[in-house]
Amino acid sequence: MSIAENISGIRRRIETAAKHAARNPVEIALMAVCKTKPADAIREAYAAGQRLFGENRVQEFATKAPLLSGLSDARFHMIGHLQSNKSKAAAELFSAVDSVDSLKLAERLNAAARDLGKTLDILIEINVGGEEAKSGMPPESPEVLQILEHAKEWQNLRMRGLMTVPPFTEDPEGARPYFRTVRELRDSMALKGFALDQLSMGMSHDFEIAIEEGSTCVRVGTAIFGERPTP
Ligand SMILES: *Cc1c(COP(=O)(O)O)cnc(C)c1O
Repeated sequence: MSIAENISGIRRRIETAAKHAARNPVEIALMAVCKTKPADAIREAYAAGQRLFGENRVQEFATKAPLLSGLSDARFHMIGHLQSNKSKAAAELFSAVDSVDSLKLAERLNAAARDLGKTLDILIEINVGGEEAKSGMPPESPEVLQILEHAKEWQNLRMRGLMTVPPFTEDPEGARPYFRTVRELRDSMALKGFALDQLSMGMSHDFEIAIEEGSTCVRVGTAIFGERPTP
């Protein structure tokens, strides 16, 4: 199957899952995760109408970005762990950082975006399974609230929501309680006066469950571009 066929297949599945959950499918964005994939694959997805993309490494995207000129309305989000010393490069390359996992990183990104005269969207990454190998902040971390409280001072960042990567379970149903925890965290922050409109949750094997649990952005790599080489 071609990338275009894969994308239209995923879009149909998003619609079905949304209907199933009595949600409007236009509320759910599809992010094509193109890490490790060549610029040509990204162009192919773009030609099929895809505009939102996710990358997980600053260095990798720095080498690909020059090959993607002309895709003027494509938006690339950083979804991988970002060291704060790479804030400047990330702010240059990306329109959003969905993987903010510390107050310090957010401050650095704001400063970098200010120097560039641009505004970056950010999401806070929540490590909902408490896995050490994964980045993100535990849902109960007081730093989550601290970031939200500081966010209004950051003139060059727009706080959009939360992202999560749950622990892998063979049965995608296993991810449901994790997705639900992140949605509940969003709801509890709303009660504290912090409106977060985006929940980035769900990947190739569990995005339908994530949609049922309120996801507004599913990040799909393998099911669009095929398997990635194992690192
Ligand atoms: C790689 C990656 C994805 C996509 O995973 P697939 O299983 O290939 O769909 C989604 N989110 C993040 C943060 C990733 O690193």
